[in-house]
Amino acid sequence: MKTSYWEKEIETIDRTSLKKLQLKRLKESVAVALKTPFYKARLKKAGITGPDDIKHWEDYKKIPFTTKDDLRECYPNGLLAVPMDDVVRLHTSSGTTGTPTVIYHTKKDIDNWSDLIARCIVATGATEKDIFQNMMSYGMFTGGLGLHYGAEKVGMTVIPMGGGNTKRQIQLMKDFGTTVLHITPSYILHIHSKLAECGVKLEDLKLKKAYLGAEPYSENTRKKAEDLFQIDAYNSYGLSEMNGPGVAFECVHKCGMHVWEDTYLVEVIDPKTGESLPEEKEGELVFTQLVRRATPLLRYRSRDIACIRKGQCACKRTHRRLSRITGRTDDMLIINGVNVYPSQIEEVVMRIPEVGTNYQICLEKEGTLDKLIVKVEIYSKLFKGELSEVDSLKNRIKEELRAAIIIHPAVELHEPGSLPVFEGKAKRVVDNRAKL
Ligand code: AMP
Ligand code: ZN
Repeated sequence: MKTSYWEKEIETIDRTSLKKLQLKRLKESVAVALKTPFYKARLKKAGITGPDDIKHWEDYKKIPFTTKDDLRECYPNGLLAVPMDDVVRLHTSSGTTGTPTVIYHTKKDIDNWSDLIARCIVATGATEKDIFQNMMSYGMFTGGLGLHYGAEKVGMTVIPMGGGNTKRQIQLMKDFGTTVLHITPSYILHIHSKLAECGVKLEDLKLKKAYLGAEPYSENTRKKAEDLFQIDAYNSYGLSEMNGPGVAFECVHKCGMHVWEDTYLVEVIDPKTGESLPEEKEGELVFTQLVRRATPLLRYRSRDIACIRKGQCACKRTHRRLSRITGRTDDMLIINGVNVYPSQIEEVVMRIPEVGTNYQICLEKEGTLDKLIVKVEIYSKLFKGELSEVDSLKNRIKEELRAAIIIHPAVELHEPGSLPVFEGKAKRVVDNRAKL
């Protein structure tokens, strides 16, 4: 497989030089952080009053963690490290789960971010010849503008469609011969289910690649998207606190997502004790921004669960790879005392060929007990709906789920297109247990 690079020197830098660069940038980031009232107080408590208190690479461990709640308390400008005149853009979170958070960017911050995106795009083998349709929503959500500027930097033809309006999306894909999509995993499956309705066949499209991210999904969902569209799908990971997309991305080898370690110091910790975990061991991802000037963030606890892969990638990039994100420390469900991650359920239902492109996880109270109901849409090409078939498919799904999560779920089969569709991040879990 041919390997291309956007910034070859830095992407293939030897690890000793990379660590040196990280230390230099960490010191600079501490100096920047100390300009904010929040970090000035926080770092002082930890005995850090200047960049020279960070002498060795391991000294990052002296820095206390930063949490989402800290960010919320800093709203709107407790973490602003430059004069507002130097800020060219800000992104806030939606604030649906509390006070929003805000990240400011200088012109250089945006430029650095776009370069990271360009690295990601080129790592998947895409070029200026590609037609790129960005189906992530534009505006405050970072998936829209983030990818947009990186794609323009590469020289791709960008169709800034944003999220939703499925029929128009399909029409544009056909009319302009879109070759690369940026889209959520749930939405790409939905797009496929609408092709026939729009009178479009797979042969009418020129699609080759899709960048799937913004929400957790399983390897089976990736395979489903790849098989349905006959494309390569690449995992794309990011979080708005660390700019957004472009934190980690798969290369053509699709064996984990390279984290751009010259920009992000990544750690995996035990979420309960805060202790560092070795490679291949799953835990919470913690990131330190090493280059952003407008909003520094040191040792930010992402709540995302993954591990760092051992060994080198065949592409020769030296930046280590993250595994798929298997869940979040805050999305674990406790069902009758058993811990279950939604991703475990997705993995099972998406490997069953008769299951279509959408599913939902519902929780109800039945007396004092919790009841798990897994609703799946059927794949009409493979499933004709004879009564005997219905029972046998339901039982098969139930059995496979029970083997994976120990709980006996109820399974409901639904018509294609009948479960709720999300054009942005999917909301798969409906938990009615607290409701009377
Ligand atoms: P936001 O800050 O709104 O952009 O959301 C970021 C969050 O989306 C991350 O912290 C993850 O929980 C989730 N996310 C983004 N990309 C992925 C991905 N490729 N796989 C799993 N979860 C993802
Ligand atoms: Zn690689």
